[in-house]
Amino acid sequence: MVNQHSLVSANLNIFPRSFTSANGVEYGLAQFPLGPRVAVLAHPEAPVFKSFEGTCVQFGEKTLLLAPLTPHTAAGLRAQLSWLQPRPLGLKTSAGMGDRIGLATPGHVRAARAADGKIAPIFAQQSIREMTRTGRTPQQVMDDATWGIFSEGWQAGVGADADHLKTPEDIDICLAAGFTFFTIDPGAFVDKRTETASLTELRELAEQLPPEIQPGKSGLLNKSFRIENLSITFDEATLLKAAVKYGTAVAHVAAMYHHLEKAAGTRPFELEVSVDETDQPTSHSEHVYIASELKRLGVKWVSLAPRYIGRFEKGVDYMGDTNAFESDIAGHAAIAREFGPYKLSLHSGSDKFSIYGIASRQTRGLVHLKTAGTSYLEALRTIAAIDVGFFREIYTFARERYDTDKASYHVSAELGRAPLPDRVTNWPALLDQFDAREILHVTFGSVLTDQNADGSLRFYDRFTSILRANPEAYAANLETHFTRHLTPFLSIE
Ligand SMILES: [Zn+2]
Repeated sequence: MVNQHSLVSANLNIFPRSFTSANGVEYGLAQFPLGPRVAVLAHPEAPVFKSFEGTCVQFGEKTLLLAPLTPHTAAGLRAQLSWLQPRPLGLKTSAGMGDRIGLATPGHVRAARAADGKIAPIFAQQSIREMTRTGRTPQQVMDDATWGIFSEGWQAGVGADADHLKTPEDIDICLAAGFTFFTIDPGAFVDKRTETASLTELRELAEQLPPEIQPGKSGLLNKSFRIENLSITFDEATLLKAAVKYGTAVAHVAAMYHHLEKAAGTRPFELEVSVDETDQPTSHSEHVYIASELKRLGVKWVSLAPRYIGRFEKGVDYMGDTNAFESDIAGHAAIAREFGPYKLSLHSGSDKFSIYGIASRQTRGLVHLKTAGTSYLEALRTIAAIDVGFFREIYTFARERYDTDKASYHVSAELGRAPLPDRVTNWPALLDQFDAREILHVTFGSVLTDQNADGSLRFYDRFTSILRANPEAYAANLETHFTRHLTPFLSIE
C-alpha cells in the first residue's frame, strides 16, 4: 500500500533539495511567512522527537513536528543526519569557503556540487578575529553552515575549520562547537629580527630560545637534504636563522597541538599550521626546519601554509611574478611530499586566478584553498544589483572606515585611486575595481556592526534582509564566483 502520509504530500513549501530521510524519519526545510522551520515527520512514538522542540500536529497516523532554527534544532539535525557532522578530510584536495554573514552556504554547496564531488568542502570556517569583528560565536558559524548544507541536501561530507587559532581557549570553544579542522597560527611568535641579524646576533638570539627548541636538539646542523630538485644544507647560519625565526612558533604549535589532542579525546580532528600572515616569505630551508621540528615534537598535521613569495592581498589576484611563484611553490610542494605527505594551504586564497593552475599542478592536488571575505563581496554584488542606494551608503561608509580597518590586513588599495561615490555610474562593476574591492573587503566588520545613535544596527538588518529575500540571486553569484575558484583544481596536468 502506498503511504499517503509522507512529507512530500504534506501541504508545505519545502526547499526541494532539503527532502531527506533516515531511519524511517523524514526531514525537510519548510518555508513559512515568519521564516523557515525544520519539518520532521515520523510515528508519534519515534525516539527522534526527543531531539527536537517545536510545534507538533497530527498528519494521518504520523506526527509532524515543526522546529524553529535554533542551536538546539541544529544539534538535533546533526545528531540524526550523520552527513551534517563535520569530519576530517585527510589529504583530499579541499577548499574552505568562509562566510562572514551566515547566508552563503547554499551558494557554496552549489559550487561544490558543480565540482562533481572532487573537492572536499569546508563550509563552516571562520577565524577568531573575524568572529570578533562580526559578533558571531563558533557555534553560530557552525549552525549557519548546517542550515545551508541541510537546505541544499549536500550529503557528501564536510569539514569545519576553526581558523587562525592563537590560544588554548580558542581551541576549547571551537572544539565544543564541533569543529574538526584546527588551524594553528603561531604568527605572533615568528621573529622578524633574523632578516637583518649577523651570525653573532643569531647565536645570541638562539641561546634565548626555550630549552626544548634549542637548535642543537634539531639534529639538523650540517645535515643536507636532496628533495626532488632541491638541495638544502643546514650550515650554522641557515639553521640558526630558521631556529630563531620559527623556533618559538614551532614550540607554540606543539603546545597547542598537545592541548588539542588531550581536549579532543577520542574525537577525530586534523591540524593545519599557518605562518602565512608574516612579513617575510618562508624559505625552503625554513620550511624543512619547521616540518622537521614539528615532527620531532610529536605534532601531526594535514596541511601547512607557508608564507609564499609575492603578495596575497585580500580579495584580489596574486601580485608578483607568477614564474617565481611557481618555482617557490614547487619547492614547498616537494618538501610537503617528503615530510608528509601533507597539503599546502593557500591562505587569502580567494581571487588568485593567475596561480590556481600552478598550485594545482605543483602540489599534484595536495592542496587546500582557503577563502573567506570574497563571499561578503558577492553579497555586496547581490545588493548592488537590487538596492543601489543602499550599496552606495555602504561604500561611502567603507571609504570613511578604510584607513582604520586596513591595519590588520595586507592590502595596498588607496582611497585616492578608488572612484568617488559621485563618479560611480555602474555600481555592480565597482566590485571589480581593485581599490574599491579591497576597501569594501576589509571594512566588513564595521559595516556589519556599526550602530545608529539609538544603538540599533546601521546596516546589518537591511543588509541581511536583502540577502534573505533574494536567496537565489545570492546563491547564483556565489556559485559562479566559486566555480571559477574550484575549476582549476579539478584537473591536475
Ligand atoms: Zn590565513
